[in-house]
Parts: sequence; C-alpha cells; structure tokens
Amino acid sequence: MPYQKFQPESLMMSFGHQSGMARGAVKAPVYQTSTFAFETAEEGKDFFELAYGLREPVNGEAPGMIYSRLDNPNLEILEKRLSLWDEAEACAVFSSGMAAISTTIFEFLKPGDVLLYSSPLYGGTVHFITEVLTRYGIQVLPFYYHQQPEDILRQLNAKRQVQRVAMIYIETPANPTNRLIDIEAMSTLAKTLSTEDRQVLTVVDNTYMGPLWQHPLQLGADLVVYSATKYIGGHSDVIAGAVLGNKEMVERVKGLRTFFGSMASPYDAWLLTRSLETLKLRMEKQTRNAQRIARFLQNHPMVERVHYLGLLTEADDDQYRIYQKQCSAPGAMLAFEIRGGEKEAFTFLNNLKLIKLAVSLGSTESLAQHPATMTHAGIPEDVLAEMGISEKLIRLSVGVENVRDLISVIEHALEKAAEVREAEMAVS
Ligand SMILES: *Cc1c(COP(=O)(O)O)cnc(C)c1O
Repeated sequence: MPYQKFQPESLMMSFGHQSGMARGAVKAPVYQTSTFAFETAEEGKDFFELAYGLREPVNGEAPGMIYSRLDNPNLEILEKRLSLWDEAEACAVFSSGMAAISTTIFEFLKPGDVLLYSSPLYGGTVHFITEVLTRYGIQVLPFYYHQQPEDILRQLNAKRQVQRVAMIYIETPANPTNRLIDIEAMSTLAKTLSTEDRQVLTVVDNTYMGPLWQHPLQLGADLVVYSATKYIGGHSDVIAGAVLGNKEMVERVKGLRTFFGSMASPYDAWLLTRSLETLKLRMEKQTRNAQRIARFLQNHPMVERVHYLGLLTEADDDQYRIYQKQCSAPGAMLAFEIRGGEKEAFTFLNNLKLIKLAVSLGSTESLAQHPATMTHAGIPEDVLAEMGISEKLIRLSVGVENVRDLISVIEHALEKAAEVREAEMAVS
C-alpha cells in the first residue's frame, strides 16, 4: 500500500510524544511542574528572548520550557493533537471554554470596534458579550439565523457601523434548537467588510459538532473555539477550552493567555489527551444513538416536534442546504417539544431513569435539561420566543449507552408525562 497521510484517529495515541523523551514511556507523563530548569544562563536568556519576541528565531529555533503559565509539555502535546482534526496550523488550550472565548475576543477587539454575533449563543458567551465587552466601549450587534448577509449589511449601513466591524462571532448549530448559520457566507461577509489595513475576523464556536463533524477553518473562518469540557473531554470530569487557527493569530491569543493566566493545567491537558484517543469512537456511537432516538421521538404521540439535524429534509430549504454543505454528520444533540407545557416537560425529566438531569453536553453519559428554566433562564420571554425556546422544549445530549435502554427510559418518561396530561385534560 502506498504511503498515505495518517488520519487523526490514528495519531491520537502518540502524536507529539516520543517515548525517548521520557525513559521509554509509551504515554506522556504528567509534567506536574510549575517551572523548568535552564542548562545555562545563556540558554535561559535565549528562551526568554524568543518567548517575548525580542529577536527572530534562527534556524527554526524554538523557545524551550520556562514556566507553566507560558507553556508546558502536556499543553504542547494536546495542542498538537487537537490541531490535526481541524487541520489547523496552531492551537491554544485554556482552563475553560469561556477562558478560550473571552481571551480570544479581548485579543482582537478594542474600544470603538463593533462585534457582530449570531443569536442564540451559549449563555456564558452572551453574558460576556453584552455585559462585559460593552463596559470597554465595544459595540455589540446580534443577528438571527434567518438573516441573510445582505440584511446584516443593510442594518450596519443604516447604523453607520460598516467601517467599525472587527469580528463576526458565530455558533452553529445554535444551542438548543440546532439552527444552522452558513459559515462560508459569514466568512465572505467578513471579507467584504475587511479593508487593506483592517481584517474582519470570523470566529466560530464549534463545540456542538467539532472537532469531527464540522470544520469551520476549511469553510473560511479565521478562528475556531471549543468548550473542550464537552465532546473533546467527553467524560464530564474536566473543564477546558481551545482556540485554533493560523500560527500568527493563535500566537497573539497565547500572548494574552500568558497574562490572563487562563491556560489549562498540566493534569487537565493530560486528561484531554487521554480523551482524544476515543474521540471519534465516542462521537460516532453518540451520533448513531441520537439518530435512533430522534426517529423514535418523531413518531411518538407525546412529541410535537424534534429539532435534530438528521431529520432535516429538502422541505427545510435553507437549513437543509447549509447542513449538506457544512456538516458531515448530524451529531448527538437534539431537542424536542413535548405535548403540553412545563408540567409535562418536568414530569418527563423527573421520571427519566439512567439519563441524568443536568446541564452540559457531549459526554459519554446521556444528559437531559429544560432550556427555558435552566440553561436559558433569565432571558426575556420575547427573546426566548425569537430563539424558539418554549416551556415545552427539552434538550438531550445523547451518550454512548445501549440505545435500546435509552429509548426504553425515554418511552417510560413520556408515558408518565402523558398520564399527567390526561389527568389535566380530564379536570379542565
Ligand atoms: C459549554 C459551552 C461553552 C463554555 O465552555 P466552558 O468549558 O463551560 O467554559 C461555550 N460554548 C458552548 C457552545 C458550550 O456548550
């Protein structure tokens, strides 16, 4: 067989670590150290000059380890492995998804800039954008999935903000309704808004689909961010985040990471490299399970509507077109509207066995939650309505369990919700 480039899943067990580096250890040790000894004072001087950009590297010289807030072997290995999935030039890992997101946004925005962002976004990101960024003189402007780039441009023109846009920040599919935004179209809009001396960046939160089922950098995005707490970590035992893109931009983000001190810890990085070994296996199994569950829900009399990418059809028009273009699988996140209201939704959640009632997603175990009163609590009712979040909506993050077991516990909880609904109808 002719030599071919190995696929990421073949490289997750070893890439970036040679056993010779650590007394033959097949697996990289945890470099649980805060600081690193220099062989000589001259070496220490060289490392600092390179790390602080005081001179250009000669002959591909790279800075050695100095201090674990700047870099650490476990971070380096994790960043190399994560880069493979998105075919990114560089990666920076963080102590949380929010640390990755806030550090990235801060690095590229300054007072007077305008940030365009898709709505809905992850709640923490919305809070950071609308409550924190705005304190620093940054203007923020949401747009919805159904708005075309031309509409957005018209809106910017009307507000005389065209020349000030610095970043377009998007999350797709959007949580919890799985609405899609066209990454390619938004990157094109960013390029249209860019001038010779001002590059408008497109940043995509790829937590829901990545790094397997969607590759924003290949669709024209400049940076991709992750909550590595979700699929990348995948076991609900680590909080972490990542940013990927070209070397120059990621180096800038790493610079600010050094001063915010928001890097991942050596042990968390080590746990994540362990998780990456099974990333594809997990995500494939979770996706297969979700497909089966979505079909089951779609045919259940207690379910009004299922929001799942795998159920999109040509009748869904634009959404179907975007899905075909930018996703390679439907993923394992779904939401559905139960017949009735909050009471039926809560009865369903309270009667779920096996599936935990908890926020977060992407883990080996299945999780369920009620967006209107949990992840999206505190959002004004009209905004919730615009986002398509009602009291009937339940979100499921599908895990790796036996799918027949999952379907049987969902069926049982739906029956309980049906009983409550019948009793209510009898009274009224
Ligand atoms: C969880 C999540 C975040 C925040 O990540 P943390 O690791 O909790 O800080 C950001 N974006 C999305 C889409 C998420 O699901």
